[in-house]
This record gives sequence, C-alpha cells and structure tokens, in this order.
Amino acid sequence: ESLISIRQLSKTYQRGTQPVPVLFDINLEIAEGEYVSLMGPSGSGKSTLLNLIAGIDKPSSGSLLIDGVDIAMLPENDLASWRASNVGFVFQFYNLMPVLNAFENVELPLLLTDLSRAERREHTETALAMVGLADRMDHYPNELSGGQQQRVAIARALISDPTLIVADEPTGDLDRHSADDILNLLDRLNVELGKTIIMVTHDPKCAERARRRVHLEKGVLLSGSGGH
Ligand code: ADP
Ligand code: ADP
Repeated sequence: ESLISIRQLSKTYQRGTQPVPVLFDINLEIAEGEYVSLMGPSGSGKSTLLNLIAGIDKPSSGSLLIDGVDIAMLPENDLASWRASNVGFVFQFYNLMPVLNAFENVELPLLLTDLSRAERREHTETALAMVGLADRMDHYPNELSGGQQQRVAIARALISDPTLIVADEPTGDLDRHSADDILNLLDRLNVELGKTIIMVTHDPKCAERARRRVHLEKGVLLSGSGGH
C-alpha cells in the first residue's frame, strides 16, 4: 500500500484563454517512509508536481491519492485542514515571519490547535531541540544564519507531526557547509522519525542523499517512478 499513489495525472495551467500544459500522464507510487528526490531542469514541472502532492493545487486529470484520500475530491476547507495536519513544508527561502522570533515562528501552526499554552511550549521546544537550536529560541530570523533559518523552518514543518515533508530546493540558498547540515537533518527526520520526504532539487549532490531519485523532463517522468 502506497502513501502516495499518482495515476495518469496531468496538469494544465490556464493563462488567460491559453492552456499551458505542464505535466503529462504522471504515474508514481511512493511508500510511507521513503525519501525521494525530484530532479529535472528548470521549468520541467518539479514544483508543480510537489505542489500537487502537498495539496496546494489540484490535478487537471488523473488521480492523486494520499493515504487513500483523493486530494482532487476534497473541498477547499477540508483540503486546508488536511494539509495542516499531514504535510510539513520547507522552502528555498525559509518563509519565516520576520517579526516573530524562532520560538514564535515554530509555535505558529499550533495556535490553530486546541493545545494549551504549556503543551505548545513543550512541543515547540522539542522541535527546536531536534534541529539543534535550543539556544537560539529568542533570535529573530535576521539574527540567524541562512542554515539556522532553514532549521527553524524545518522545526516549524515538524511541529504538527506530519507524515509527509515536502522540501522545494531546501539548500538552494545555502553554502555547501550549511547545505550539508540541512541534508543531514533531513536524513535524520527520515531515518529516526520515519518521515516520508519528497525533495525537489536541481543539484545532483543533494539528490544523491535521497534513497530514490525521480527525474522529470518537460513534464514527463523519466525514471525511478517505480509503481506496482
Ligand atoms: P520547475 O519547478 O521544474 O522549475 P515549475 O513546476 O515551476 O517547474 O514550472 C513548470 C512550467 O509551468 C513552467 O513553464 C512554468 O512557467 C509553468 N507554470 C508554473 N506555474 C504556473 C502558473 N501558475 N500559471 C501558468 N504557468 C505556470
Ligand atoms: P554561518 O556561517 O554558519 O552561516 P553566520 O556567519 O551567518 O553563520 O553567523 C554566525 C553566528 O552569528 C550565528 O550563530 C548567528 O546566530 C549569529 N548571527 C548572525 N547574524 C547575526 C545578527 N544579525 N545578529 C546577531 N547574531 C547574528
């Protein structure tokens, strides 16, 4: 049984009256606990596919089941709450709130839950300790290095204990040393916490850290798509 099951999926954006086909007949099965990198040239459709998997966008045709849930069939409200509890997002430019410190950024998703203040604090401190930033909780994003900001973002992605972590060029803005730190951290989330990780990257060095590599070329899946 796959965690993610994509069958004959196509995606066409609409630009005015002009259809822009981006993904063609994608078939992909990903099991729970896998660590997959999604590679391909710029414009090949990587982010589009990642956004579909994360429930940010819906396929134009075909099906996308996650944990048996057909994403395309969920009303927008249900999709948003499904996303909040099942998917953690990591972006290239961290997307932290500049006016909130590290603790507050990580705690943010929990403000929408009914956890008590003490429970929120405990979860937030645990997540920040997990990424090695227990001593930086009161730092604001502009007081942290790029690698540290990305670790805050990863703690925030973990805070709701999602099954799936999606990362779009998570090391794209980092030097090699900080990038390695982040890749080591993602590796631990996969091995120690059993998180399913899907990482978009155009950097082969990053991609090789994943246990499975999938290639997109002009909207078509080339290899590693597996399936059963
Ligand atoms: P990648 O992540 O591989 O660089 P993307 O998925 O971002 O590729 O984009 C694939 C193609 O889809 C590109 O040609 C891009 O211009 C187009 N595209 C992406 N988003 C939209 C959109 N919202 N509307 C129209 N075209 C889009
Ligand atoms: P790295 O080389 O690891 O990317 P930096 O050289 O950016 O890190 O930062 C080194 C240390 O200085 C980090 O621990 C960071 O928390 C701290 N730091 C960076 N920028 C600021 C700042 N504007 N105010 C306070 N501390 C900062």
